[in-house]
Amino acid sequence: MNVTRTLVAIALLGAAGMAHAAGNCTISLKGDDAMKFDQKEATVSAGCATITVELAHVGKLPAAAMGHNVVISKTPDMAGITKDAIKAGAAKNYIPDGDARVIAHTKIIGGGETTKITFPGKALTAGGDYSFFCSFPGHSTMMKGKLVVTK
Ligand code: ZN
Repeated sequence: MNVTRTLVAIALLGAAGMAHAAGNCTISLKGDDAMKFDQKEATVSAGCATITVELAHVGKLPAAAMGHNVVISKTPDMAGITKDAIKAGAAKNYIPDGDARVIAHTKIIGGGETTKITFPGKALTAGGDYSFFCSFPGHSTMMKGKLVVTK
């Protein structure tokens, strides 16, 4: 009987159990031709090894006219990012180059398209003030929501 190996196995089981209890690790949003997300609030856990952000554009309009993305930032950074996003333009998916305020973002998609990204949960702090929004010019006034981050 190898006691050390047994203890390691128990420790690993414990860690796996904790990871499982991390809470929600996926945000699934729908955007439409009425410039709206289907949710005003989403919850994820900072304890997730990986957080997945899924976006489905359920409208019909092309990306040039009604493009949507999902950007995650601290709420106070949102206004500055959306302002600089206009300068970055469509070719950059309305994301300023190397912008440290942007915690995560998807590309811009049009009607009928879907996209998905992942980022580490440790990029977020439990209890912090975060938002998700669309950085297409003019959209963030309506296309925004609160991102609640749990432990
Ligand atoms: Zn949009």
